[in-house]
Amino acid sequence: LGSAVLALSMAACSGEGAGSGGNDSDKPGDLTIGVSMPTQTSERWIADGNSVKEKLEAKGYKVDLQYAGDDIPTQSQQVDQMITRGADVLIIAAIDGTALSGQLQAAADAKIPVIAYDRLIRDSPNVDFYVSFDNYKVGVAQATALLVGLGVQNKDGSKGNASGPFNIELFAGSLDDNNAHFFFNGAMDTLKPFVDDGTLKVKSGQTKIEQVAILRWQQEAAQKRMEDLLTSSYNDGGKVAGVLSPYDGLSRGIITALQNAGYRGDMPVVTGQDAEIASVKLINDGVQSSTIFKDTRLLAEQAVVAGESFLQDKSPEANDTETYNNGVKVVPSYLLPVQTVFKDDIKPVLIDSGYFTAEEVASGQ
Ligand code: BGC
Repeated sequence: LGSAVLALSMAACSGEGAGSGGNDSDKPGDLTIGVSMPTQTSERWIADGNSVKEKLEAKGYKVDLQYAGDDIPTQSQQVDQMITRGADVLIIAAIDGTALSGQLQAAADAKIPVIAYDRLIRDSPNVDFYVSFDNYKVGVAQATALLVGLGVQNKDGSKGNASGPFNIELFAGSLDDNNAHFFFNGAMDTLKPFVDDGTLKVKSGQTKIEQVAILRWQQEAAQKRMEDLLTSSYNDGGKVAGVLSPYDGLSRGIITALQNAGYRGDMPVVTGQDAEIASVKLINDGVQSSTIFKDTRLLAEQAVVAGESFLQDKSPEANDTETYNNGVKVVPSYLLPVQTVFKDDIKPVLIDSGYFTAEEVASGQ
């Protein structure tokens, strides 16, 4: 695999003209990195885009940063334009992981290395590197946070005092996002023993990813599904005790539906991901139970390191060469760790690291 990357990166440096990659005579100021981000509706992608841009510009590179408004044709067009404008490396967080094969072929033809950012791009041989977090472990952490929130398990992994049975419901992300499957698999592997022994009961019976997925990770769609679940499966007076939610935006939609149905002090244990400020406030206020913090500053740094390696005719350093098969090949990856955040973790994990200030967390909604 290492040699394949090296061959690709050397090929990337042997071309001429637009997208020729770096070579010894190129100064950073002569090189442009195209950065394609999915959407500005979630603050994490704004932070990702800004961090990557700032870090590259600090090294003197030119940056062509575009957001695609969660619209697949827009992203395809933006990547096409980056290629024709002469990008030397592409960093792409895909909306639909399978929709960019044509663009990636054009990039390969122009000898432009492609780095998949956070979301794996599938079904293409022309993905040269992947930077992300350990996405299976995100799912494990979300399910574990649900178990801890319910009191079934303690933070140290030992058995908790509560034994249930607890009614829970499950949510997953967008089916066209490779990560959604990793999150859900990690979570379900962790929850399965507790479902099997009757501690947890998915009252709606909806346990397949196709049944619980939310297209484009939309908050409103999650709210609607939670409302529908309450109407269809909890009209017998049964109470929801926990909800597995894979993303803070979905969690807020779910919480709104529960509040509209009258849940207050009996708010179910709701999980999350991304440590979005609106959800961190809800955790601080005891409304949302947890989130998973993924430090986008570190991810941006890894994308920059990988991009620079390609520009310097080197293979980026991978720390995982097994996990991420994109349907055509295993893409060498650099995966970062994640951290679970309950209320008590807000200060040590999010404030002391400078991710948020105490004022941002404490200020009114
Ligand atoms: C990312 C998550 C994010 C989700 C929705 C996923 O691909 O890994 O961090 O919550 O997309 O934007």
